[in-house]
Amino acid sequence: MQTPLVEMDGDEMTRILWQMIKDELLLPYVELNTEYYDLGLIHRNETDDQVTVDAAEATKKYGVAVKCATITPNKARMDEYSLKKMYKSPNGTIRAILDGTVFRAPIVVKGIEPCVRNWKKPITLARHAYGDIYKNTEFYIDKPGKVELVYTSNDGEEKRALVQEFKAPGVAMGMHNMEASIESFARSCFNYALDTKQDVWFGAKDTISKTYDSKFKEIFAQIYENEFKEKFEAAGLTYFYSLIDDIVARVMKAEGGFIWACKNYDGDVMSDMVSSAFGSLAMMTSVLVSPHGYYEYEAAHGTVQRHYYRHLEGKETSTNSVATIFAWSGALRKRGELDGNTALSAFADKLEQATLAVIESGKMTKDLALITTLENPVVLNSRDFILAVKEELEGLL
Ligand code: NAP
Ligand code: MG
Repeated sequence: MQTPLVEMDGDEMTRILWQMIKDELLLPYVELNTEYYDLGLIHRNETDDQVTVDAAEATKKYGVAVKCATITPNKARMDEYSLKKMYKSPNGTIRAILDGTVFRAPIVVKGIEPCVRNWKKPITLARHAYGDIYKNTEFYIDKPGKVELVYTSNDGEEKRALVQEFKAPGVAMGMHNMEASIESFARSCFNYALDTKQDVWFGAKDTISKTYDSKFKEIFAQIYENEFKEKFEAAGLTYFYSLIDDIVARVMKAEGGFIWACKNYDGDVMSDMVSSAFGSLAMMTSVLVSPHGYYEYEAAHGTVQRHYYRHLEGKETSTNSVATIFAWSGALRKRGELDGNTALSAFADKLEQATLAVIESGKMTKDLALITTLENPVVLNSRDFILAVKEELEGLL
């Protein structure tokens, strides 16, 4: 490895899996060159969370990072870890620094079949992670009166519109988005489509929201026309816009194999639908792609706290490491592509092949054994699953 990979370690059960994956599946086969950042909550607390900022800055320097799941502190974690303060979500901090879009795609494997029969290929969901109702202001209106939307420009110009004349109690809300954020969302989607050779579908409600949602539609169309159309045509790809309800209906009838770009709320709701219909959060890859060309790979699930406490009690766990293995393989493949290191990319492909082959042979962790269509699955514990992947990998290498 010519260029270091930014390695962000994390918490609880995923931290245990992280070390096993490195020891058993990576270090024996790759001269691993990483710049290590410990984002485990203890070290975040020791550094006043500076380590998270440093890790994000390192990602800007080197271009590719791999991240373990981390605890987002709440009140209970404040007490559990005697934290100096309630730090923000590391993912939020990193996203704010890298300015990216999160792409999530199911890991498709024989034996774990989607509930939707006609879904043959993965559907990658791209969620715009800024604004709309996630940064809103809202009121409860308890007596008659009027709600207005007022804008005052810095040079004193005013725009005013009536939202509703309330005759009885009700609710009202104001929200916004930024052109720059929508533009970088669009560019991330189109770049990722070229990278992964998939079409892009985007839906909004521009018939009802003639300014707000129309702006999303317009920005996507302009950026596609001016910056991506030729590249898409050369790659045999298409960009398709329709109303969000039409898109939802088409998704259910489609084969998959495309990127579904979603506004913030649609992405929140639809990503849970798509992931559960494909099987499990533990079979979901997640990558943050910044419009500047930085990539951060992670698993879509959390630190699997319940399993960690079993592990601490010395009990056996059967935690699924597939998403974390794929975070590593995704990052190594991208590092290989950027550095022209074909051996590294080939290793990443084999690691994924080996992981899928183990599951297809009927050996899997408990979460998958509960949903597989394969008969008589063999349930392995956390370590034995990784060792089974190792054995398969040695065969491929
Ligand atoms: P979680 O870690 O995703 O786990 C929730 C449940 O889902 C588990 O108890 C387990 O079910 C099942 N599960 C998830 N991943 C699994 C895997 N790899 N293998 C097998 N089963 C799996 O969510 P959580 O327990 O609500 O959150 C724990 C911590 O993770 C929180 O502190 C949260 O802040 C953090 N978190 C981090 C990220 C991130 O860094 N990206 C994302 C989400 C949450 P059973 O117990 O029924 O087996
Ligand atoms: Mg959600």
